[in-house]
Amino acid sequence: MRRYTITQFNKDFTDDNACLGWLKAYLHPDGIYCPTCGYITKHHKVTKRSCYACDSCGNHVYPMAGTIFEHSATPLKLWFYAIYLMSATRCGISAKQIQRETGVTYKTAWRMFKQIRTLLQEDTQPLTGEVEVDETYVGGMRKGKRGRGAEGKSKVIGAVQREGRVIVQVVPDVKRHTLVPFMASKVDRDAVLYTDTFPSYDHMTRLGYTHLRIAHQDKKWARGRIHTNSIEGFWSLLKRGIGGVYHSVSEKYLQSYINEYGFRYNHRKDEKPMFLTVLEKV
Ligand SMILES: [Zn+2]
Repeated sequence: MRRYTITQFNKDFTDDNACLGWLKAYLHPDGIYCPTCGYITKHHKVTKRSCYACDSCGNHVYPMAGTIFEHSATPLKLWFYAIYLMSATRCGISAKQIQRETGVTYKTAWRMFKQIRTLLQEDTQPLTGEVEVDETYVGGMRKGKRGRGAEGKSKVIGAVQREGRVIVQVVPDVKRHTLVPFMASKVDRDAVLYTDTFPSYDHMTRLGYTHLRIAHQDKKWARGRIHTNSIEGFWSLLKRGIGGVYHSVSEKYLQSYINEYGFRYNHRKDEKPMFLTVLEKV
């Protein structure tokens, strides 16, 4: 991935006007069509307003309309900066950090992040090739001590295509009738499925999958290609992130946090800087 540095960011997005200019150029790459004039006309920035006016008839165009920035009183540059921070770090950034760095209130920072996270939901085309599936438990940590066992923790199921994308979902339980529909809808029937020997994964061959399993007690080891190391790798990334950055996440928001990590994972090999990928989704 091309590195997109903070120096580059500050050069490209000097102020609110530059951010608005980017938005306008992105949304109207061939110029702005003026509905009043009926064709593409020259537009100019209206001073002190977040809009452009048609040179011929004065009709106003608001690039922020329909984006996550609409109706927000937060300066556009701050929004862009928050998106930059969120996509530039490997393991996530908290609202607290944004608050410290920019001086916005915690509530504002939190709301911005919540909005930005809505952009990080990816379409979930079924995975194919070699796919590892595993379930895990997240959160439920008491202050100062890490609870053992599954009590109070959220259950999460994930599937990762080796060298490819990950799809992760918070689930109410890890019973077969919950996990099988997840696999059936997220993993292509032609895929080679790798799981451990957890009984909920039984009978997947009946659905047409080639299914290879690694015994629970040997999970740390691989028998040739039979392992679940890729999904385990994602779990540790997720848990380190949620533990270190967000401390504890309520179940209500867990899915959106998970989407954030999934997005970052899925775009880890992109040529385009992740910041621009997110920006283009606003
Ligand atoms: Zn016009």
